Amino acid sequence: MQEPLFLKSVLQEKIWGGQKLHTVFGYDLPSDKVGEYWAISAHPHGVSTVENGEFSGHKLDELWANHRELFGNTKGDVFPLLTKILDAEDWLSVQVHPDDAYALKHEGELGKTECWYIIDAEPGSEIIYGHNAKTREELAEMIYDERWDDLLTKIPVKKGDFFYVPSGTMHAIGKGIMVLETQQSSDTTYRVYDFDRKDDQGNLRELHIKQSIDVMTVPAKTPELDIETVSYGDSSVKTFVETEFFNVYEWKVRGSIKFEKNAPYTLVSVIDGKGAIIVDGKEYSLVKGQHFILPADIPSWELTGNLDIIASIPGVNA
Ligand code: ZN
Repeated sequence: MQEPLFLKSVLQEKIWGGQKLHTVFGYDLPSDKVGEYWAISAHPHGVSTVENGEFSGHKLDELWANHRELFGNTKGDVFPLLTKILDAEDWLSVQVHPDDAYALKHEGELGKTECWYIIDAEPGSEIIYGHNAKTREELAEMIYDERWDDLLTKIPVKKGDFFYVPSGTMHAIGKGIMVLETQQSSDTTYRVYDFDRKDDQGNLRELHIKQSIDVMTVPAKTPELDIETVSYGDSSVKTFVETEFFNVYEWKVRGSIKFEKNAPYTLVSVIDGKGAIIVDGKEYSLVKGQHFILPADIPSWELTGNLDIIASIPGVNA
Protein backbone atom coordinates (compact mmCIF):
# COMPACT_ATOMS: atom_id res chain seq x y z
CA MET A 1 0.00 0.00 0.00
CA GLN A 2 1.44 3.35 -1.06
CA GLU A 3 1.40 5.81 1.83
CA PRO A 4 3.77 8.39 3.31
CA LEU A 5 5.18 7.54 6.74
CA PHE A 6 4.30 10.54 8.95
CA LEU A 7 6.57 10.73 11.99
CA LYS A 8 6.42 11.86 15.59
CA SER A 9 9.80 12.43 17.13
CA VAL A 10 11.92 13.31 20.11
CA LEU A 11 12.77 16.74 21.55
CA GLN A 12 16.14 17.32 23.19
CA GLU A 13 16.82 19.78 26.01
CA LYS A 14 19.98 21.83 25.52
CA ILE A 15 21.73 24.54 27.55
CA TRP A 16 21.48 26.81 24.47
CA GLY A 17 17.85 25.97 23.56
CA GLY A 18 14.66 28.05 23.80
CA GLN A 19 10.93 28.00 23.14
CA LYS A 20 10.72 28.51 19.38
CA LEU A 21 10.14 24.84 18.61
CA HIS A 22 6.78 25.48 20.26
CA THR A 23 6.06 29.05 19.18
CA VAL A 24 7.09 28.51 15.54
CA PHE A 25 6.32 24.81 14.97
CA GLY A 26 3.79 23.95 17.70
CA TYR A 27 5.66 21.03 19.28
CA ASP A 28 4.86 20.39 22.97
CA LEU A 29 8.04 21.22 24.86
CA PRO A 30 9.07 19.46 28.09
CA SER A 31 11.04 22.45 29.46
CA ASP A 32 12.19 26.06 28.95
CA LYS A 33 15.32 25.14 27.05
CA VAL A 34 14.64 22.84 24.15
CA GLY A 35 17.27 22.96 21.46
CA GLU A 36 16.52 20.17 19.02
CA TYR A 37 13.66 18.25 17.44
CA TRP A 38 15.02 15.02 15.94
CA ALA A 39 12.37 15.14 13.26
CA ILE A 40 13.42 12.12 11.18
CA SER A 41 15.68 9.83 13.16
CA ALA A 42 16.53 6.20 13.69
CA HIS A 43 19.49 7.07 15.95
CA PRO A 44 19.32 5.33 19.35
CA HIS A 45 19.45 8.70 21.18
CA GLY A 46 16.01 9.62 19.77
CA VAL A 47 14.02 7.42 17.40
CA SER A 48 11.01 8.63 15.38
CA THR A 49 7.70 6.71 15.48
CA VAL A 50 5.29 6.32 12.55
CA GLU A 51 1.93 7.97 13.27
CA ASN A 52 -0.32 6.74 10.46
CA GLY A 53 -1.34 3.81 8.30
CA GLU A 54 -0.22 0.22 8.21
CA PHE A 55 2.98 0.92 10.20
CA SER A 56 1.42 3.19 12.84
CA GLY A 57 3.32 2.83 16.14
CA HIS A 58 6.40 1.30 14.52
CA LYS A 59 9.76 2.91 15.18
CA LEU A 60 11.98 3.97 12.31
CA ASP A 61 14.95 1.83 13.42
CA GLU A 62 12.69 -1.21 13.55
CA LEU A 63 11.31 -0.52 10.06
CA TRP A 64 14.89 -0.20 8.80
CA ALA A 65 15.76 -3.56 10.42
CA ASN A 66 12.63 -5.52 9.46
CA HIS A 67 11.04 -3.78 6.47
CA ARG A 68 14.01 -2.83 4.32
CA GLU A 69 11.73 -3.02 1.26
CA LEU A 70 10.34 0.38 2.36
CA PHE A 71 13.83 1.75 1.72
CA GLY A 72 14.34 0.04 -1.62
CA ASN A 73 16.37 -2.77 -0.02
CA THR A 74 19.33 -0.39 0.25
CA LYS A 75 22.30 -1.70 2.26
CA GLY A 76 23.71 -0.54 5.58
CA ASP A 77 23.52 -1.42 9.27
CA VAL A 78 21.84 1.84 10.23
CA PHE A 79 19.38 4.24 8.64
CA PRO A 80 21.96 6.71 7.34
CA LEU A 81 20.26 10.10 7.71
CA LEU A 82 19.00 12.33 10.49
CA THR A 83 16.90 15.47 10.07
CA LYS A 84 16.78 17.95 12.96
CA ILE A 85 15.29 21.34 13.63
CA LEU A 86 17.41 23.45 15.99
CA ASP A 87 16.47 26.53 17.99
CA ALA A 88 19.61 28.35 19.07
CA GLU A 89 18.42 30.75 21.76
CA ASP A 90 22.14 31.03 22.54
CA TRP A 91 25.38 29.95 20.84
CA LEU A 92 25.99 26.23 20.44
CA SER A 93 29.46 25.08 21.45
CA VAL A 94 32.28 25.59 18.97
CA GLN A 95 32.72 22.06 17.69
CA VAL A 96 33.92 19.63 15.06
CA HIS A 97 32.75 16.15 14.04
CA PRO A 98 34.85 13.16 12.94
CA ASP A 99 34.63 11.38 9.59
CA ASP A 100 33.38 7.79 9.25
CA ALA A 101 36.80 6.16 9.70
CA TYR A 102 37.64 8.02 12.94
CA ALA A 103 34.10 7.77 14.35
CA LEU A 104 33.80 4.03 13.67
CA LYS A 105 37.16 3.40 15.32
CA HIS A 106 36.70 5.65 18.38
CA GLU A 107 32.95 5.99 18.87
CA GLY A 108 31.43 2.93 17.19
CA GLU A 109 29.13 4.93 14.95
CA LEU A 110 29.06 6.90 11.71
CA GLY A 111 30.94 10.13 11.30
CA LYS A 112 29.04 13.34 10.94
CA THR A 113 28.85 15.47 7.87
CA GLU A 114 25.97 17.90 8.20
CA CYS A 115 24.35 20.81 6.43
CA TRP A 116 22.13 23.67 7.49
CA TYR A 117 19.19 25.43 5.93
CA ILE A 118 18.61 28.67 7.85
CA ILE A 119 14.88 28.70 8.65
CA ASP A 120 15.13 32.06 10.37
CA ALA A 121 17.76 34.34 11.84
CA GLU A 122 17.46 37.43 14.01
CA PRO A 123 19.13 40.54 12.54
CA GLY A 124 22.90 40.48 13.15
CA SER A 125 23.04 36.69 13.59
CA GLU A 126 26.34 34.95 12.93
CA ILE A 127 27.79 31.47 12.73
CA ILE A 128 31.31 30.18 13.19
CA TYR A 129 32.38 28.40 10.02
CA GLY A 130 36.06 27.57 9.58
CA HIS A 131 39.26 28.72 11.28
CA ASN A 132 42.49 30.56 10.57
CA ALA A 133 45.17 28.08 11.68
CA LYS A 134 47.66 27.17 8.93
CA THR A 135 49.05 24.02 10.56
CA ARG A 136 47.90 21.50 13.17
CA GLU A 137 50.60 22.85 15.55
CA GLU A 138 49.27 26.37 15.16
CA LEU A 139 45.70 25.09 15.70
CA ALA A 140 46.73 23.40 18.96
CA GLU A 141 48.62 26.49 20.11
CA MET A 142 45.70 28.83 19.43
CA ILE A 143 43.25 26.49 21.21
CA TYR A 144 45.47 26.06 24.29
CA ASP A 145 46.10 29.82 24.40
CA GLU A 146 42.33 30.44 23.97
CA ARG A 147 42.92 32.91 21.14
CA TRP A 148 39.33 32.50 19.93
CA ASP A 149 39.03 35.83 18.10
CA ASP A 150 42.18 35.05 16.07
CA LEU A 151 41.27 31.41 15.46
CA LEU A 152 37.56 31.35 14.60
CA THR A 153 35.95 32.61 11.42
CA LYS A 154 32.56 34.27 11.98
CA ILE A 155 30.16 34.99 9.15
CA PRO A 156 26.74 36.68 9.03
CA VAL A 157 23.67 34.61 8.10
CA LYS A 158 20.10 35.27 7.02
CA LYS A 159 16.91 33.32 6.40
CA GLY A 160 17.21 31.00 3.40
CA ASP A 161 21.03 30.61 3.51
CA PHE A 162 22.50 27.12 3.19
CA PHE A 163 25.78 25.79 4.57
CA TYR A 164 27.49 22.47 3.89
CA VAL A 165 29.52 21.38 6.92
CA PRO A 166 31.71 18.36 6.11
CA SER A 167 33.26 16.37 8.97
CA GLY A 168 36.45 18.15 10.08
CA THR A 169 34.91 21.65 9.81
CA MET A 170 35.14 23.97 12.82
CA HIS A 171 31.63 25.32 13.38
CA ALA A 172 29.00 26.74 15.70
CA ILE A 173 25.44 27.89 15.13
CA GLY A 174 24.96 31.35 16.62
CA LYS A 175 22.40 32.93 18.90
CA GLY A 176 19.01 33.74 17.37
CA ILE A 177 19.14 31.20 14.53
CA MET A 178 16.72 28.40 13.63
CA VAL A 179 18.11 25.68 11.40
CA LEU A 180 16.91 22.62 9.57
CA GLU A 181 19.87 20.27 9.70
CA THR A 182 20.33 17.29 7.42
CA GLN A 183 23.15 15.07 8.65
CA GLN A 184 24.57 11.59 8.85
CA SER A 185 22.94 9.56 11.62
CA SER A 186 25.54 10.28 14.31
CA ASP A 187 25.67 11.94 17.72
CA THR A 188 29.43 12.38 18.05
CA THR A 189 30.44 15.97 18.76
CA TYR A 190 33.91 17.12 19.81
CA ARG A 191 33.66 20.42 21.69
CA VAL A 192 36.52 22.86 21.23
CA TYR A 193 35.11 25.76 23.27
CA ASP A 194 31.86 26.30 25.16
CA PHE A 195 32.13 30.01 26.10
CA ASP A 196 33.01 28.98 29.69
CA ARG A 197 29.29 28.73 30.49
CA LYS A 198 27.81 26.54 33.21
CA ASP A 199 24.59 24.52 33.29
CA ASP A 200 21.87 24.82 35.97
CA GLN A 201 23.94 22.66 38.32
CA GLY A 202 26.97 24.93 37.87
CA ASN A 203 28.88 22.44 35.74
CA LEU A 204 30.89 23.15 32.62
CA ARG A 205 30.19 20.82 29.69
CA GLU A 206 32.98 18.47 28.72
CA LEU A 207 35.48 19.59 26.07
CA HIS A 208 37.27 17.22 23.67
CA ILE A 209 40.41 19.14 22.74
CA LYS A 210 42.62 16.23 21.73
CA GLN A 211 39.99 14.63 19.49
CA SER A 212 39.16 18.05 17.99
CA ILE A 213 42.77 18.67 17.03
CA ASP A 214 42.98 15.12 15.60
CA VAL A 215 39.97 15.41 13.31
CA MET A 216 40.06 19.09 12.26
CA THR A 217 40.69 19.81 8.59
CA VAL A 218 43.82 22.04 8.54
CA PRO A 219 44.03 24.45 6.84
CA ALA A 220 40.25 24.97 6.75
CA LYS A 221 38.50 24.32 3.44
CA THR A 222 35.34 26.14 2.45
CA PRO A 223 33.19 23.94 0.21
CA GLU A 224 32.10 25.57 -3.05
CA LEU A 225 28.35 25.17 -3.47
CA ASP A 226 26.77 24.97 -6.88
CA ILE A 227 23.14 25.74 -6.02
CA GLU A 228 20.72 25.21 -8.90
CA THR A 229 17.09 26.29 -9.15
CA VAL A 230 14.61 24.91 -11.67
CA SER A 231 11.20 26.59 -11.98
CA TYR A 232 7.91 24.85 -12.73
CA GLY A 233 5.41 27.67 -13.16
CA ASP A 234 5.32 29.49 -9.84
CA SER A 235 6.86 26.52 -8.04
CA SER A 236 10.54 25.61 -7.94
CA VAL A 237 13.05 22.96 -6.96
CA LYS A 238 16.41 24.09 -5.65
CA THR A 239 19.33 21.66 -5.32
CA PHE A 240 21.61 22.73 -2.48
CA VAL A 241 24.08 19.82 -2.39
CA GLU A 242 24.62 16.43 -3.97
CA THR A 243 27.21 14.56 -1.92
CA GLU A 244 28.25 11.02 -1.08
CA PHE A 245 26.17 11.26 2.12
CA PHE A 246 22.98 13.04 1.04
CA ASN A 247 21.36 15.29 -1.53
CA VAL A 248 19.32 18.17 -0.14
CA TYR A 249 16.62 20.12 -1.95
CA GLU A 250 14.20 22.96 -1.35
CA TRP A 251 10.75 22.44 -2.85
CA LYS A 252 8.75 25.69 -3.11
CA VAL A 253 5.15 24.77 -3.90
CA ARG A 254 2.96 27.60 -5.21
CA GLY A 255 -0.09 25.95 -6.72
CA SER A 256 0.76 22.43 -7.75
CA ILE A 257 3.81 20.40 -8.73
CA LYS A 258 4.28 16.73 -9.59
CA PHE A 259 7.34 14.69 -8.61
CA GLU A 260 8.76 11.37 -9.68
CA LYS A 261 11.08 9.68 -7.23
CA ASN A 262 14.83 10.02 -7.90
CA ALA A 263 16.01 7.82 -5.01
CA PRO A 264 14.96 4.67 -3.11
CA TYR A 265 13.26 6.87 -0.48
CA THR A 266 12.84 10.56 0.32
CA LEU A 267 12.82 12.49 3.62
CA VAL A 268 10.44 15.45 3.66
CA SER A 269 10.12 18.35 6.14
CA VAL A 270 7.45 21.04 5.84
CA ILE A 271 9.04 24.20 7.21
CA ASP A 272 6.39 26.72 6.20
CA GLY A 273 2.92 27.05 4.70
CA LYS A 274 -0.08 24.81 4.19
CA GLY A 275 -1.16 22.42 1.50
CA ALA A 276 -1.44 18.75 0.70
CA ILE A 277 0.37 15.78 -0.75
CA ILE A 278 -1.48 13.43 -3.07
CA VAL A 279 -0.22 9.85 -3.16
CA ASP A 280 -1.93 7.04 -5.06
CA GLY A 281 -5.09 9.16 -5.38
CA LYS A 282 -5.28 9.90 -1.64
CA GLU A 283 -4.81 13.40 -0.26
CA TYR A 284 -2.99 14.08 3.02
CA SER A 285 -3.12 17.65 4.36
CA LEU A 286 0.19 19.27 5.27
CA VAL A 287 1.16 22.08 7.63
CA LYS A 288 4.50 23.41 8.76
CA GLY A 289 6.22 21.25 11.35
CA GLN A 290 5.30 17.94 9.73
CA HIS A 291 7.94 15.44 8.70
CA PHE A 292 7.54 12.26 6.72
CA ILE A 293 9.29 9.67 4.58
CA LEU A 294 8.15 8.71 1.10
CA PRO A 295 9.03 5.01 0.99
CA ALA A 296 10.23 3.02 -2.01
CA ASP A 297 6.79 1.88 -3.19
CA ILE A 298 5.70 5.45 -3.96
CA PRO A 299 6.84 6.17 -7.53
CA SER A 300 5.30 9.64 -7.82
CA TRP A 301 3.40 12.26 -5.86
CA GLU A 302 1.83 15.67 -6.23
CA LEU A 303 2.13 18.63 -3.87
CA THR A 304 -0.45 21.40 -3.80
CA GLY A 305 -0.95 24.64 -1.91
CA ASN A 306 1.61 27.02 -0.54
CA LEU A 307 4.47 25.03 0.96
CA ASP A 308 8.17 25.48 1.74
CA ILE A 309 9.76 22.09 2.07
CA ILE A 310 13.27 20.77 2.64
CA ALA A 311 13.71 17.27 1.24
CA SER A 312 16.67 14.91 1.25
CA ILE A 313 17.69 11.58 -0.21
CA PRO A 314 20.57 9.28 0.70
CA GLY A 315 23.83 9.90 -1.20
CA VAL A 316 25.69 7.27 -3.16
CA ASN A 317 27.79 6.18 -0.15
CA ALA A 318 25.10 6.58 2.51
ZN1 ZN B 1 27.71 20.17 14.50
